[in-house]
Amino acid sequence: MTGAPLFERMALIGIGLIGSSIAQTARQRGLVKEIAISTRSPATLQRAEELELGDFYSVDAAQAVDGADLVILCVPVGANEAVAKWISPVLKTGAILTDVGSTKQSVVDQVSPHVPKGVHFIPGHPIAGTEQSGPDAGFPTLFDQRWCILTPPAGTDQTALEKLSAFWQECGSNVDLMDPKHHDLVLAIVSHLPHLIAYNIVGTADDLETVTKSQVIKYSASGFRDFTRLAASDPTMWRDVCLNNKEAILEMLSRFSEDLSAMQRAIRWGDGDTLFDLFTRTRGIRRSIIEAGQETDVPDFGRHVADTRQDD
Ligand code: NAP
Repeated sequence: MTGAPLFERMALIGIGLIGSSIAQTARQRGLVKEIAISTRSPATLQRAEELELGDFYSVDAAQAVDGADLVILCVPVGANEAVAKWISPVLKTGAILTDVGSTKQSVVDQVSPHVPKGVHFIPGHPIAGTEQSGPDAGFPTLFDQRWCILTPPAGTDQTALEKLSAFWQECGSNVDLMDPKHHDLVLAIVSHLPHLIAYNIVGTADDLETVTKSQVIKYSASGFRDFTRLAASDPTMWRDVCLNNKEAILEMLSRFSEDLSAMQRAIRWGDGDTLFDLFTRTRGIRRSIIEAGQETDVPDFGRHVADTRQDD
């Protein structure tokens, strides 16, 4: 970015994959003057310091937030409420408070009551990630050509919204605005359900008695391997996603189960036309994703070569 930084002091609470990526992007592109980092464990904080991700480090979130004009909560969604309570007394008037959580209505419900008057709370979700976690996993191009969804509450200050949107655009993302409940429904199908299916299929394979684990691994390139990447995602994050987007996930799971039963019936009755029609329709969806620039068409989806990103 050329010109003055957008923010004077950015406080990142939580410095895992997402916090670390934000720190590196903001530093590299000159988006903020100073970066203050807080995380709960001294070991993670020390690692962030070794990686030189910030300018100020503390296990005390309130100390990091003190004087910040941009505060980004980068912790698992189940931890947002406790962090919000902790930092609430020191949030500066006029500051923007946002988050990166994978669910949005729960964040609104849990954080809003602790936001002081004069602080602009605008929840957010960058649709970018990998199955890795921790500060070492972050990288400065994670958000390039991805979407960032913001869910501004009614009456949000327009200038604050524009400033936060500009921040994410400078991080490389396109910004979309959405209602939090709608966000949760959309993400339930595009992200949460695929992860749950992956966790389930890998769990099922692991439980098999007649097929050995070594055979599963040896022949994994036939499809199983792609599920294992999703199923390697952080257990804390995904436990919290399930607990905090319960309704939408249950709705999508029940639709999925119905469609699975229909597929089961088609296989049982040898209904090849139904199967062929479905497989043709779904192939088209993959083509649209590639055309939208949200995936690459090279073998292994290019992941082993250069791009380890996935949409969260
Ligand atoms: P991560 O790499 O596991 O890092 C999590 C950070 O939160 C660490 O600094 C950790 O601190 C801290 N933390 C964990 N539990 C906490 C608790 N109970 N109280 C306070 N701090 C806690 O996670 P991440 O992948 O960056 O995810 C962070 C957020 O981004 C989540 O809300 C997730 O839903 C969202 N998100 C993730 C992805 C993705 O693909 N990973 C994509 C988009 C959005 P210590 O290490 O010090 O314990």
